[in-house]
Amino acid sequence: MPERQDGRDPGAEAAPELSIIVPLYNEEDNVGPLYRAIREAVLPLGLATEIIFVDDGSRDRTFERAAALPRDDGVRLRILKFRRNYGQTTAMVAGIDHARGRILVTMDGDLQNDPRDIPRFLEKIAEGYDLVVGWRRDRKDHWSRVLPSKVANWLIGKVTGVPIRDNGCSLKAYRADLIKRIPLYSEMHRFIPAMASLAAPRIAEIEVRHHPRRYGTSKYGFSRIYKVFVDLVAIRTILSFARHPFAWLGTIGAIAGGMALLYLLLALLTMGDPNRGTTIVWGGLAVLLGSLAIFSLFLGFLTHLVYAGKARYLTAFRHLSVRRL
Ligand code: UDP
Ligand code: MG
Repeated sequence: MPERQDGRDPGAEAAPELSIIVPLYNEEDNVGPLYRAIREAVLPLGLATEIIFVDDGSRDRTFERAAALPRDDGVRLRILKFRRNYGQTTAMVAGIDHARGRILVTMDGDLQNDPRDIPRFLEKIAEGYDLVVGWRRDRKDHWSRVLPSKVANWLIGKVTGVPIRDNGCSLKAYRADLIKRIPLYSEMHRFIPAMASLAAPRIAEIEVRHHPRRYGTSKYGFSRIYKVFVDLVAIRTILSFARHPFAWLGTIGAIAGGMALLYLLLALLTMGDPNRGTTIVWGGLAVLLGSLAIFSLFLGFLTHLVYAGKARYLTAFRHLSVRRL
């Protein structure tokens, strides 16, 4: 094993208390001012802090600008770099996976979120909340984005049963042991509270400042509406399957089975008829629905096994809804 000249073990470096995770995609003019703003906001807190910049395959000078910043000037700066653009959720997940703090904060890298709000998030975590969500009450974006977002938030609340005013606000704080175990993919960074609801966390919402974008451009257009909709359907399925794995397919199986029996009866009753055609039709339907019933029951049983395995893993979260003193 090669030893370091200074005799320090690199693995033994004290873990920070707080990790701030920022995904960056073509944000070359924002990265420097953002670093300074975060540093200024967290230094007075006196907490060991790391900033994790995740360069999501930027094609401008974002990475070079980030790499030129001081690495250990009161706060530790760590940089992750993707070879290509994987999307905001993936970038956030990479940051979350690499973060070593007990408390994690995520935010946008375009200076629309304000790092001066971070201390208020930490206060809420200290009060015992597992997840603190920002609410951009006075949002500084064009109405063509604010309006669909209002509708989406209402819909997400209705469909997932987790009513949050502003799911799309990236400025959030988490207890690390909660967020590190929540599965996130696709564009699910907009559904973190709903996905986290699998672990029954204590969620708080606080108002945050919001600024118009000064440098660079937004990375999303109208396609976001479609993506949100698709993810919503997926999440609804995940949530209801996780809660009642057997219920859906079991019900379909039972209905199909009942109808198969009915058609079987009709087929038997028409057996003696001179017109054999009806018997064949009833019999055919009975076979078809009978197969559907057997198929759904087995599929239901299989998903039950899959989710029962997951459920055991999810019960590991139970302690999280208890406040640690
Ligand atoms: N982002 C990213 N990868 C992407 C798209 C966006 O890392 O593929 C980052 C982006 O650099 C910014 C944050 O995610 O830091 C939010 O993006 P944006 O400001 O474009 O979203 P909006 O504010 O328009 O909703
Ligand atoms: Mg933005």
